[in-house]
Amino acid sequence: MMQHLIASDMSASGGECRPGCGACCIAPSITSSIPGMPDGKPAGVRCANLDADNLCQLFGDPRRPTVCRRFDYDPALCGDDRDQAIARLAEWEAATGQ
Ligand code: SF4
Ligand code: SF4
Repeated sequence: MMQHLIASDMSASGGECRPGCGACCIAPSITSSIPGMPDGKPAGVRCANLDADNLCQLFGDPRRPTVCRRFDYDPALCGDDRDQAIARLAEWEAATGQ
């Protein structure tokens, strides 16, 4: 799933990530190992490193997974608010089957 996000064209994305959203740390599955989640995580499950304010506790930390460091804001998926992002990312996850 995240690989598909990374492969999408971010060059014309515009906009920027909403701090405290965290939708991309919940809705998609992650297959690589994450600190605290050695087998990655299934879709719809909060990452163990997402704090109560929906901020990544590993931001700027070398242990932050590569897949996360490479993920970037994409208006087509991030939408206008967090609920939209959760819904769109869940749809994308279901569509790609990953
Ligand atoms: S879903 Fe988009 S807006 Fe929300 S935290 Fe992730 S990159 Fe930022
Ligand atoms: S490690 Fe951080 S950026 Fe990656 S899914 Fe978890 S909370 Fe999100």
